[in-house]
Amino acid sequence: MYGGIEAGGTKWVCAIGDGPDDLHELATIPTTTPAETLGAAASFFQRNGKIAGIGIGSFGPIDYARGSITTTPKPGWANTDVVGALRAALDVPVAFDTDVNAAALGEQRWGAAVGLETFSYVTVGTGIGGGGMANGRLMHGLLHPEFGHMRIPHDRARDRFEGVCPYHGDCFEGLASGGAISARWGKDPEELAADEVWDLEAEYLALGLLNVIAVLSPQLIILGGGVMKEPTLLGRVSTRVVELAAGYFEIPNIVPPALGDRAGVVGALELARSNGAS
Ligand code: ZN
Repeated sequence: MYGGIEAGGTKWVCAIGDGPDDLHELATIPTTTPAETLGAAASFFQRNGKIAGIGIGSFGPIDYARGSITTTPKPGWANTDVVGALRAALDVPVAFDTDVNAAALGEQRWGAAVGLETFSYVTVGTGIGGGGMANGRLMHGLLHPEFGHMRIPHDRARDRFEGVCPYHGDCFEGLASGGAISARWGKDPEELAADEVWDLEAEYLALGLLNVIAVLSPQLIILGGGVMKEPTLLGRVSTRVVELAAGYFEIPNIVPPALGDRAGVVGALELARSNGAS
């Protein structure tokens, strides 16, 4: 059996098992200081018996090769050596990637992307993250993809909101994340129902996804995250992407994660398994 961690900015979800139908232990740890959180995760795995390795899907930005969280604005977490700390505590192989890449890997093994080699996973929550596979491999490069910080058109006559990204203002995440929705309308996304709200959100998501489609040619886009719980949003986005493409190229299906809210932690298990296999 393997260990998996979905390491988020507000909570860490830890699991032991072999897949979505075989989760033996599951624990949620609040994200406090690095020492406290890493210590709690290590003792969860120490308490629950022997594992062959651990996979971690982490909030970022991360240094994939060095196993650390890098320049996060989250207080205390910049330059945290996640892999080193867990390897020292548990003495097992530790695989490390972004939370979205881990979720994408889980979807390719057990979920919506089985059999696909090139697909994208986009999550719209407090922020916006993106990752996925190209030609059968999880996407890495100089660092890792940062879909959330692409620039998209911002029609200031329609939307005067400046955006919430501390680095870029009105980048994709700055305009379309859950944080942006809350700041623009003064309410949390789940309290908002007006067409005006969700048409604007669908416009921004469609503009971002059209860029993803144009650059990566994914066979499928998996679109998850808390904001996508608005029941009308996926349909609005899909319609608008087709309109924006204007018939020039084929648009892939845009679907929710088949593994739901478990995609991240289940994907982390697969990250651990494929790390041992490679
Ligand atoms: Zn940005």
